[in-house]
Amino acid sequence: MKFLADGMLGKLTRWLRMLGCDVKYYNDLEDEELIKIAKNENRVLLTRDIQLYKRAVAEHAQVFLVKCSTETERLTEVAQHFNLNLEIDVNNSRCPKCNAKLKSVLKDEVAEKVPKSTLRFFNDYWICLNCGQVYWQGSHWQKIKQKLSEAKDLRKN
Ligand SMILES: [Zn+2]
Repeated sequence: MKFLADGMLGKLTRWLRMLGCDVKYYNDLEDEELIKIAKNENRVLLTRDIQLYKRAVAEHAQVFLVKCSTETERLTEVAQHFNLNLEIDVNNSRCPKCNAKLKSVLKDEVAEKVPKSTLRFFNDYWICLNCGQVYWQGSHWQKIKQKLSEAKDLRKN
C-alpha cells in the first residue's frame, strides 16, 4: 500500500513507515500538486483537510480523510481502514525520516556511527540506504511498543 500524506500528518507518516508502508510526505506542496502525485504514482492521499479531500474525490484520486485527533487514534484509524498489521518488523520497515528501505547491518559496520555504550548493549542494527541514519531497538523501543499496543486496543476488530 502506497500513501501520500499531507503536511499535517508528519507523525502518522513516521508510524506508517515503521510499519513498512511506502509513504511520501510533503509539507510545502499545493493541493493540486498533492492530487497530481497521488494519481500519477497510484498513492492514497491521506489528509486532515476536508477541502483537499473533496477536491481529490472530485478529481478521482484515491484519498482517505483522517478524522481522529490523537497520534494513536490516527494510527488505529488508518490501520483499520487499510487492514494494516500493527506490528513492526524492522526488516520490513522504512526509514521514518526519509521513506527509504532499511538494511540490517553488522555491529562492526556501524561502530563509528553509534555511541560505545549502545554498542555494548545492542547487537542488532539497521541502516537507511538513503540518508544513512542508524537504528537499533534502544530504550525508545519500549515506547514504540507501548504505543502500538494502545493502537491495537483501540482497534475494533
Ligand atoms: Zn533515511
